[in-house]
Amino acid sequence: MKQNNRSWLPIYCDPAVFLPMVQSTKMVFAHPPYLFQDFVGKAISFLRGERARELGFELDMRTALPCKWKCSDESLYGVDLCLYAYTGHYPFDKGSIGGFFNEASVGAAVHHARTNLDFGGSHVGYEPGPDGGTFGRISRPLEAGGTSSDCGYLTALLAPFQEVYEDACDNILLCRPEGDRVLISVPNEFLQPSWSSNNIKLLVDLQTLTDGVVPCDLARPYTCELAGRSLFYTHPDFLDGLDPEARDRYLGANPASIGRHLTAGAFNIFDAHAPLRDDGTPEQRILPYVKHILADHDAPAPLKAAMINAQIEHNRLADCVRAAGYRPYSFASFTGVFIDLYDPVSKAYVNLFQPVGLGLKPAGEPREAEFTVAQIHDIFDEQEIAEPAMPLEGVLGYERPEHLLEIFTFLPGL
Ligand SMILES: [Zn+2]
Repeated sequence: MKQNNRSWLPIYCDPAVFLPMVQSTKMVFAHPPYLFQDFVGKAISFLRGERARELGFELDMRTALPCKWKCSDESLYGVDLCLYAYTGHYPFDKGSIGGFFNEASVGAAVHHARTNLDFGGSHVGYEPGPDGGTFGRISRPLEAGGTSSDCGYLTALLAPFQEVYEDACDNILLCRPEGDRVLISVPNEFLQPSWSSNNIKLLVDLQTLTDGVVPCDLARPYTCELAGRSLFYTHPDFLDGLDPEARDRYLGANPASIGRHLTAGAFNIFDAHAPLRDDGTPEQRILPYVKHILADHDAPAPLKAAMINAQIEHNRLADCVRAAGYRPYSFASFTGVFIDLYDPVSKAYVNLFQPVGLGLKPAGEPREAEFTVAQIHDIFDEQEIAEPAMPLEGVLGYERPEHLLEIFTFLPGL
């Protein structure tokens, strides 16, 4: 009987348990992001237009409350200012640090206005540069010109997982000492949780990556493993899935590390101390997605984490406003990833916005009309930018930093 090590996993990591899907980076970034100020102007035009009216959504700007849900980071202050400039009202705060949606705020917000315009999401710093630039850091002019992580909350959450993942990438070794079969040597801490004192446990998925234990044969010294490691035959499907150049690395007698070929299907990772709900799901809903964030080949981890967190929180917002108590109220919910840049020209933080979700819930309806990312771009690319309630330059201190759209050169998978 072939053995596996899946019984050691918390239920939310079991590969046999379906995990709700999240959008792919390639799909979300098939279109470039907007300047957030343009997005708000287009959103208002859209809500005033024919399509929103056909869906039962009537916008009267005199009675609509702009709302924000996002991280507390000061790099996002332009979001507040854009909403203020376009509507003449300072946005109601429905968020908290880390880019979380605060459900408890909605009851108060609907008592201030019967129509809520919700703009929110996670954020990620961007530094322009070659090969698509760098995500996860930003200039902090208040810190003597230094840089620091952005979003700091999501970066700190991911850092211990990232460390263990990189250790596994470096120390799981493949080689072919003789004959046809490629062997894989796995440190025991990546096979069974008690072999590591770290709270973060990474377990390779034996069913995906391996094809049985290599028995110790004294005539073949390489089969008599080092203390603290186990030796397996490598699963043929894993090798078949590699491009020829990568596979060649593993065909020699010298061990080569698995590196980024340790893809999401080949391992699981969890925090043994993560608080769980009664049903076995973690309180931090991003945790089941951590391996997909770490091993994504199309997007750097800080960007992928922001995309996934925004989707999870968009779902919480949509779920919240479907409650019977909110039936009489209208909600227009625009969710995305804020991409923060520090613009040395205007000496200000500027936010790009890549939408991931849009829901329109007219008063009296139990559920919202939903739009895909492609539909949002189709609609918004055609949309006029509405006239702001007060001049943007007066509120933001700059007019339209179009040059930032050109220096955002990220393309997924490159
Ligand atoms: Zn943040």
